[in-house]
Amino acid sequence: MASVPSLPTHNIVHPDKDRFLQEENPFEAMMSRFDRAAELLDLEPGIYKVLRHPEKQITTYIPVMMDNGEVEVFTGIRVLYNTSRGPAKGGIRFDKNVNLDEVTALAAWMTWKCAVVNIPFGGAKGGVICDPINMSVGELERLTRRYTASIIQTLGPDSDVPAPDVNTNERMMAWIMDTYSMRVGHTVTAVVTGKPVEMGGSLGRREATGRGVMLCVKEALAHLGMPVKGATVAVQGFGNVGSVSADLLAKEGCKIVAISDRTGAWHNPKGIDVADAIAYVAKHKVLEGYTKATQISNEELIALDVDVLVPAALENVITTKNASTIRAKVICEGANGPTTAAADAILDEKGVFVVPDILANAGGVTVSYFEWVQDRGGYFWTEQVVNDRLKEIMVNSFQAVLQLSKQHKVNMRTAAYMLSISRVATVHRLRGIYA
Ligand code: NAD
Repeated sequence: MASVPSLPTHNIVHPDKDRFLQEENPFEAMMSRFDRAAELLDLEPGIYKVLRHPEKQITTYIPVMMDNGEVEVFTGIRVLYNTSRGPAKGGIRFDKNVNLDEVTALAAWMTWKCAVVNIPFGGAKGGVICDPINMSVGELERLTRRYTASIIQTLGPDSDVPAPDVNTNERMMAWIMDTYSMRVGHTVTAVVTGKPVEMGGSLGRREATGRGVMLCVKEALAHLGMPVKGATVAVQGFGNVGSVSADLLAKEGCKIVAISDRTGAWHNPKGIDVADAIAYVAKHKVLEGYTKATQISNEELIALDVDVLVPAALENVITTKNASTIRAKVICEGANGPTTAAADAILDEKGVFVVPDILANAGGVTVSYFEWVQDRGGYFWTEQVVNDRLKEIMVNSFQAVLQLSKQHKVNMRTAAYMLSISRVATVHRLRGIYA
């Protein structure tokens, strides 16, 4: 295999440099896993070089008229990592810490995620450096529309299909869809996913990622010969992914013994009534003040003696600092990048069965694909149809990764990367290099 080609310097904006310690740099984390899988696949040097680079990085400067009458200029990014298998797919985040390194890593992640569940999409990601919490609805609408206009050349149902991500939501997807539709002169619902159901969104999308997590946990337990009924589970994060995962796992008979959010963690060895906790958060916004369990720290939650740990909050929460404290037998990564590459080795040594993020949380992008299919075909599937098709894809993908992991005697993460990289590489070989 060729030596690692040097990558273009991405560091145009690093407002929070200290956050990017080597272990926690998202591009490094993704690439070290990529390199290991590429080596095991004995990937030819040409394809290796292609897959180690993004296809396109757009940086755009977006003027917005603020409510106080002054013009502010925001930096927007859209990265198309690889589109060999189909239109680029990936969310748009609005955040102060957005930077090109991170967006590029997340776009690569989307490429492997779509390939591991074998849906016909490539990978993309976008972001705007801004502080959305302190912006008015009007400012956010003007920013979203101008950002959309500035990347309109790449957007389209056949080329680049955004979705919500950190601090963006259904309403913003509606603005993107409207801006694009106004520019092309007719309504194009399939240009974004994660839209309101009333305008072409899909039933089942909100629960899709958590449903995928639940299905992966069940497959993992079955593989390890552990019963689902009574399996003890700790869930970090109680937002969309964490609360739905906890709820659906409880409905399958698991005992959810700990949950957490940014205000802390709560533990009850007898089991937490998840529906009750969801109702509490619906009323109080956060878990703080919840009295039906004992408050512990998030570090204590990670180290609980449970069958299953579901990190469903943030990246880089399982690192070399705490991996050795983990007692769970299964980790199912609901969040993106919760485990650092350096921590993987410690978990392997401890024999923890890790269902990696690119497989475990792929339920969301799978139902986004269903949304795109429905929009393009003018269909509206029932929730049952969505859930049945999601189950088929998640279970088949889990089994394909498991089989590869057994065949090559590698962990599930390496196998998932091998499967997805080989799928993308096969398409590159078949398509050849256009000259
Ligand atoms: P969300 O904003 O709905 O929920 C995040 C949760 O994490 C909240 O409960 C928040 O309080 C909690 N949290 C924040 N900081 C924390 C901390 N320090 N300790 C413990 N909890 C903390 O977000 P989400 O949509 O559920 O996404 C969670 C993760 O899953 C992210 O990594 C996201 O990229 C990933 N993901 C989400 C989807 C999706 O469909 N929503 C799909 C794939 C991956």
